[in-house]
Amino acid sequence: MIQAPLGFEDHLPDRLPVWRRIEDAARRISETYGYREMRTPLMESTELFVRSVGEVTDIVEKEMFTFDKGDKDSLTLRPELTAPFVRACVEHSLFKKKPFQKLFYVGANFRKERPQKGRLRQFHQFGVEALGASDALLDAETVLLALAFFEAVGVPGVRTRVNTIGCPTCRPAFRDALKAHLEPKLARFCENCRRRFDRNVFRVLDCKVEGCVALSSDAPRVQAHLCDGCRAHDEGFIGALRRAGVAFEQDPRLVRGFDYYTRTVYEFRAPGLGAQDAIGGGGRYDNLIAEMGGDPAGAVGFAVGLERVVIALEAAGKAPEEEWFPTRVYVTHIGPETRDAAFDIVRTLRTAGISADMDFEGRSLKAQMRNANRVKAPRVVILGPDEMAKGEVKVRDMAKSAEESVAVKDLAARLARAEE
Ligand SMILES: [Zn+2]
Ligand SMILES: [Zn+2]
Repeated sequence: MIQAPLGFEDHLPDRLPVWRRIEDAARRISETYGYREMRTPLMESTELFVRSVGEVTDIVEKEMFTFDKGDKDSLTLRPELTAPFVRACVEHSLFKKKPFQKLFYVGANFRKERPQKGRLRQFHQFGVEALGASDALLDAETVLLALAFFEAVGVPGVRTRVNTIGCPTCRPAFRDALKAHLEPKLARFCENCRRRFDRNVFRVLDCKVEGCVALSSDAPRVQAHLCDGCRAHDEGFIGALRRAGVAFEQDPRLVRGFDYYTRTVYEFRAPGLGAQDAIGGGGRYDNLIAEMGGDPAGAVGFAVGLERVVIALEAAGKAPEEEWFPTRVYVTHIGPETRDAAFDIVRTLRTAGISADMDFEGRSLKAQMRNANRVKAPRVVILGPDEMAKGEVKVRDMAKSAEESVAVKDLAARLARAEE
């Protein structure tokens, strides 16, 4: 038996209702906030992610599915969708038509992680990107949109953490202060932290290793180093969240895994996910559009892990397997002489927009009636040779156990009325 590859998951029919509910909510809420859906390819040039996400990130260093064709055209399955969205907007000159774009996606991303609960190699994300504006109110809008989504799908107990990480103007001073503070005890940090110290020291604050958390607990805070622009931006963001009545925590240790973030960063956590309880996150990335070849313009967005949403819903008992009974009319037949006629009736009903089905396995009438019960069809059409000779069929109302004769030519209209 051939199995699906490790970290790749089938979505079986019984699980589809919960996925559809989540995806429908993502689309509905995004549109309520004025975001439009966009779709980009599953594969991109490897260079796109190296340049945007950052060379010294876990993703680019070890988690990308990269296909090298032996020349410079290296392709990678997208590990995230912000960089592809910026690429697409710049490539198609969307900013020339409309300098400010509000876009969203629901789709699959790929990372070569060690598969575990809630962490798959093919995983699905819902995300929004507000591209082309620097207003702090947009940072708040994206947080409110994410929270409205969690509320709509029914994820309980979502906690919001926010922080600012400054900008290229004020970050160097913070970086120097952080490095000066950490350097004397660097040897006691984990290997990842020691590696990050030179290349992206802010990630040390994000390390989940207990020893590292304790060692960096008294590290300098970015708030002391913010430039006036970053400070005003942060106040605008925080003020908007407060006015909206959002319960959130300001966490100076919060940084994000990608290099492109500036100023606002935020993260959502949910119960039921275990130690790795992040369910989504995002922030502002004011330099990415220019780095991708566009005119300099601000942007902000988030991504939510949909597998994690499913797990959180399951933990809360809100994702039961749902049965699916679409058949409204089950058409039975008796032997080969009425089978073709049954198929023609099914076809006519479907054309009239009535969900109809029949037996295709050569089963007895008794077995067909059992099947009609199993699929919970409210009405069964019975075709006997005698009725057929008169151009009639019997229609049985399963709830009332009542039968009536109906002319075949009137059947669709009769059943459509019954459906009303
Ligand atoms: Zn700044
Ligand atoms: Zn560490």
